Amino acid sequence: MEHQLEDKWNRPLRDLRISVTDRCNFRCRYCMPAEIFGPDYEFLPKDHILTYEELTRLTRIFVSLGVKKIRVTGGEPLLRKDLPSFIHLLNRIEGVEDIAMTTNGVLLPKYAAELRAAGLKRVTVSLDSLNDQQFRLMNGGRSGVQAVLDGIEAAALAGLHVKINMVVQKGVNDSDILPMADYFREKKQILRFIEFMDVGNTNGWKWDQVVPKQQILSLIQEKVPLEPIDAHYAGEVASRYRYKGSDEEIGIISSVSDPFCGACSRARISAEGKLYTCLFASKGHDLRALLRSDQTDSEIETFIESVWKARTDRYSEERMLHSQSSPKIEMSHIGG
Ligand code: SAM
Ligand code: SF4
Ligand code: SF4
Repeated sequence: MEHQLEDKWNRPLRDLRISVTDRCNFRCRYCMPAEIFGPDYEFLPKDHILTYEELTRLTRIFVSLGVKKIRVTGGEPLLRKDLPSFIHLLNRIEGVEDIAMTTNGVLLPKYAAELRAAGLKRVTVSLDSLNDQQFRLMNGGRSGVQAVLDGIEAAALAGLHVKINMVVQKGVNDSDILPMADYFREKKQILRFIEFMDVGNTNGWKWDQVVPKQQILSLIQEKVPLEPIDAHYAGEVASRYRYKGSDEEIGIISSVSDPFCGACSRARISAEGKLYTCLFASKGHDLRALLRSDQTDSEIETFIESVWKARTDRYSEERMLHSQSSPKIEMSHIGG
């Protein structure tokens, strides 16, 4: 029988985002600024990170509580050794309807075919500009544009369905909105604009660096008319738009200007095994301690169930009230 687990605002638990590493080969300023995530930064030691077996066991438990969709993320997930073997384990769990991954893309030429063979169907590749100099400025000088485009192509060739994520920051890459929209419309790939968010504690976020959804839409509409299209399912994070008279579409993830907490069905597990019920949470719930004690699956399930039942998170809808809030989990720990 379908499990009817719901939180305090009647939101079911449907999506699980799993961060497999806190490390990354990029240093995007809005996520892991190099001056903080420098050579002396202490990343998690190996034995603090959940093994694939532990993550698979947890996923099974989450699925029994209603989860249907899994997203693998990081840090950069493709830095974790033998990621395809993990995808394979996830793919064998009965009840999992969809497995996706978010990546910066540069390792896709190496792994795309293996990932597809292991059962991955969809990949979201992050790319913030088509201008090499601009892109390097944003990722801490770690990659040019072509390496990511090669990754996107490798993924498509391997049979993966590809979407592109672009974080938009005013005064940084807002002039890249139109070139990016044109390029991916031409390629018939879905580009999703993400409003710059106040995740973590280190990216110096300010309201005036956000380009709100309506501005992004107006900019594109001035050139090509768009029309809204229905969400694929309740709780979809991006609002979808189609270029009129075509099948090409874009998405906008407007967590700042038009939040969507009301339908948020996402739980997140950090690489060290903490459960977070919101992207902006300050505290996680230690699942690693439970996994590494003598707790049974059913005891762990009861614990997760109690956490979800008590959940009241709606950070984005209450953003104005949180100006003095306690430190938040870093994006590189839970992967967006
Ligand atoms: N390394 C992978 C990547 O970049 O795709 C996966 C992890 S990354 C944390 C997941 C997504 O979060 C990326 O699309 C990234 O652009 C987005 N992101 C990171 N920091 C952000 C911020 N401050 N505001 C909005 N999106 C952000
Ligand atoms: Fe790395 Fe992704 Fe964060 Fe950029 S957004 S630093 S690629 S984890
Ligand atoms: Fe979900 Fe928290 Fe984002 Fe709201 S702010 S949509 S509750 S993750």
